[in-house]
Amino acid sequence: MPELPDEIAWTLVNTEDWGGGLERTYRAENVEHADCGGDVLLVHLHDEMGAVTGAHSRCAKCGEDPTA
Ligand SMILES: [Zn+2]
Repeated sequence: MPELPDEIAWTLVNTEDWGGGLERTYRAENVEHADCGGDVLLVHLHDEMGAVTGAHSRCAKCGEDPTA
């Protein structure tokens, strides 16, 4: 499993195969984007071996990165 911040309750909401591995989307259960109140999503990209190769977050409502 990828390492996720302890203080945020993440729920896996979507898994897609992008061709070279999996893309997993997590939704934060107990935080929301301060600017608009939208859900905060965390996207992890995995390679074929399952290792996390990239991670980024975005707001489900406005699309901005809530951590930027
Ligand atoms: Zn937002």
